[in-house]
Amino acid sequence: MEVFDKAEGWSREEITACQVARLRGSIARSMNSPFYRERLARAGVRPEDIRTPEDVRRIPFTTKQDLRSQYPEGLLCVPRRDVVRMHCSSGTTGTPTAICYTRGDVNSWSDLVARCLHMVGVRPDDVFQNMSGYGLFTGGLGFHNGAERLGCMTIPAGAGNSLRQIKIVEDFHTTVAHILPSYALILGEKLRQMGKNPAEFPLRIAIVGAEPYTEEFRRRIEDLFALKAYNSYGLTEMNGPGVAFECQEQNGMHVWEDAYLPEIVNPETGEPVPDGEIGELVLTTLRREGMPILRYRTRDLTRFLPGECACGRHHRRIDRILGRADDMFIIKGVNVYPMQIEQVIMTFKEVGQNYLITLESDGLGDVLRVQVELRDECFVEDMRVLQSLQKRIASRLRDEVLVTPRVEFVQSNTLPKSEGKAVRVRDLRGTK
Ligand code: AMP
Ligand code: ZN
Repeated sequence: MEVFDKAEGWSREEITACQVARLRGSIARSMNSPFYRERLARAGVRPEDIRTPEDVRRIPFTTKQDLRSQYPEGLLCVPRRDVVRMHCSSGTTGTPTAICYTRGDVNSWSDLVARCLHMVGVRPDDVFQNMSGYGLFTGGLGFHNGAERLGCMTIPAGAGNSLRQIKIVEDFHTTVAHILPSYALILGEKLRQMGKNPAEFPLRIAIVGAEPYTEEFRRRIEDLFALKAYNSYGLTEMNGPGVAFECQEQNGMHVWEDAYLPEIVNPETGEPVPDGEIGELVLTTLRREGMPILRYRTRDLTRFLPGECACGRHHRRIDRILGRADDMFIIKGVNVYPMQIEQVIMTFKEVGQNYLITLESDGLGDVLRVQVELRDECFVEDMRVLQSLQKRIASRLRDEVLVTPRVEFVQSNTLPKSEGKAVRVRDLRGTK
C-alpha cells in the first residue's frame, strides 16, 4: 500500500489516539461561538471529559436546522480576517447553510482530496478534468484544489456542455474525470450519437459522487467507458468532497478518521446502531478551525462495513449511501427509497440512462409512475416485446417495493436532465 501521507496508513491505535486529542481540540475551539458555548455548557461537556472516541456521545447533535439558525456566520470560531473562503450547501429550499474556511482549512481539505485521488491511482502525470459545477458547490473547487495539490494538470471544465467536455478530453488526453453519475451516462450517450465509441475515450478513472447511485449504475459507467469508477462522498458541512472515498478494492468508502469522527445512529432515536446495521451517518469535524461542527446529523443512510479492508488501510469503511432520510417517500403505506427502484431498472439492459419517478393520485389512490428511457435500438421492437418487458420490470419492482408501479417507456433524451444533482422523484400528490 502506497500512502499519500502518514495518517492514511495509521493503525487503529494511532487513529484512536488522534481522534481523542483532536476531538478535545474541536470542542475547545467550538466554544468560541456563542451557540456551542451555550449548548456544551447546558450538556455539561468539557474538552477534558473526552477520554475515548465514544465519549463524543455526550455531546448534543447539531442539525441542519441549527446551522440554518446560525446563518450566515453564527458558528464562526475564528476572527473574521482569518477566513479565506465560503461555500454553501446545495439545499434547494429555505435558508442555505454556509461554511467559512480558514487558510488552514482549505489546505487540509486539499490534502484530503489529494489523498483520495492518490489512493485510487491518480498521479501527477494524469490530466484531471473536473466536470462538476464550480461556484458555491464544493465539488468544483474542492476537487480542483485536491488534484492540483497532487500535481495533476487540472482542467476546470465545469458542469454540462458535453460537446466542449468531449473536445477538451480529446485535445488534452484527459485521463481522470470527476463527474456526477447521472451526467456520466448522458456524456456517453452524446459520444455514441456522434458516432464515437465511449470505450475508446482516453479516460481511465472516473471519480463519481455527490448524489446517490447504485452498484448497477457504477458498472454501467465502467462498462460504457471501459474505465474504473470510484465512489466519492462528502458534504459542504464537512468541507465538501474528501470525507469518505473508495479504495481500489471498490468495496465501501474509507472515512478519513483523522479528520472526521463518524457515527451511525438510529434516525428516530439517535442511539448508536449495532455495527453493520443501517442508520444515519453523524459526523464531527476533527481538524476544522473556522467552523468546527460537532455531531452533525447528515440525514444520509449507510452502515459501517464490518472487518478490515483488503487494501490494508485501517480507516473504517461505510457502505455506499443508500439514500437520504429525506428522499424516502411513502406510497400505499410502504416506505420506498429511489435507489431501490434504480437498482431494479438498471439491471435491464434495454433501459437507457435516465429515469423519473412520479407520485400521483388518480382519485382512487396513490399511483407510482416510473418513466424510463429506452435505448434507441430497443424502441423499434414490436409492441409485444415492449409490453412483455414492461411487465417484467413492473413485476421486479413490485417484488422490491411491494407496490405495483405503472412503468412507461420514453425515448432517450426526453426526460428532464439536470446539470447539477439529478432530481429522481416528483411528488404531485395533493397538487391537483
Ligand atoms: P452538498 O453539501 O450540497 O454537496 O450535498 C451533500 C450531500 O450530497 C450529502 O449529504 C449526500 O446526501 C449527497 N452525496 C454526496 N456524495 C454522495 C455519494 N457518493 N453518494 C450518495 N450521496 C452523496
Ligand atoms: Zn480499502
